[in-house]
Amino acid sequence: MAQIAFIGLGNMGLPMARNLLKAGHAVHGFDVHEAGKAALVEAGGTAEATIAAAVSGAEVVVSMLPAGPHVREVYLGEGGVIAAARSGALLLDCSTIDVATAREVIAAAGARGLEMADSPVSGGVMGAAAGTLTFMLGGSETAFARAKPVLSGMGKTVIHAGGPGTGQAAKICNNMMLGVHMISLAEALLLAERLGLSAEKLYEISSVSSGASWSLLNDPPLPGLVPTAAANRGYVPGFSTAMMLKDLRLAQQAAQAVGATTPLGAEAYQLYNLFASNGNEGLDFSAIIKMMAGKAT
Ligand code: NAD
Repeated sequence: MAQIAFIGLGNMGLPMARNLLKAGHAVHGFDVHEAGKAALVEAGGTAEATIAAAVSGAEVVVSMLPAGPHVREVYLGEGGVIAAARSGALLLDCSTIDVATAREVIAAAGARGLEMADSPVSGGVMGAAAGTLTFMLGGSETAFARAKPVLSGMGKTVIHAGGPGTGQAAKICNNMMLGVHMISLAEALLLAERLGLSAEKLYEISSVSSGASWSLLNDPPLPGLVPTAAANRGYVPGFSTAMMLKDLRLAQQAAQAVGATTPLGAEAYQLYNLFASNGNEGLDFSAIIKMMAGKAT
């Protein structure tokens, strides 16, 4: 079992670190907030006062941070992971960030002789708690082989996406599809209602037809169709509108950087931006149906 440093003990990081402890690893955690560290100690881990203290003895460093600037600071900053990690350590950033920052940080790690991969996740807070996350790893074959046993302690699927940054590319392409699917599903449900077709019947038909999607099967935007839907719980996330907006923004930035044409991704970004800016960031992303029905603030 490995000595693991875990940086970023928030909504995702804390349950992931707990699962590493359950898998028998020793976990040394750091977060700028005390609450995550206290909860890690309660679960049997060790809280450290600095990043350097957390990573200095670690064979594997895992991070789960809000966004690119945090990853840059934690890895490249003074006393950060790349400066303080021991030689031979494997570095795995599981945050969702922009491809360019992921590649820059991985290159900086490589310049110090450290193997690093981007390894963002799909599955949300529930998947993090249940240990059923999907990891999409961007890095070398050896990084993948070394990472897989560790990531398997936190998820049920670990996929090698390709070279550095391709984990982040997979994540934002996947979530761009998800955002577009959710909007098209909301449109279809609202159109069906006006055409005299109930949501229940459209669900019954489309769930076994070519219009089916993850959104339809797991998180349809109307209550009473699927037990797992956030719509049944007043749109408590689930996957928040703020998170969806973040990922759609990353997808648009990436598309602009490489000259890709993504008109539906751009439209999805605009619609989620409007919905979020009216105070709905904290609602599940399926709640966008309220705005499309003219019922949102
Ligand atoms: P969060 O805000 O709950 O947790 C982030 C943690 O990082 C916080 O505890 C924060 O204090 C800590 N942090 C920030 N700066 C730090 C620093 N310099 N040093 C140490 N710790 C620092 O966010 P989250 O929901 O856990 O999401 C984390 C990442 O996972 C994000 O990139 C997000 O996009 C991605 N993600 C989230 C979900 C989800 O459903 N929440 C799903 C998939 C992916």
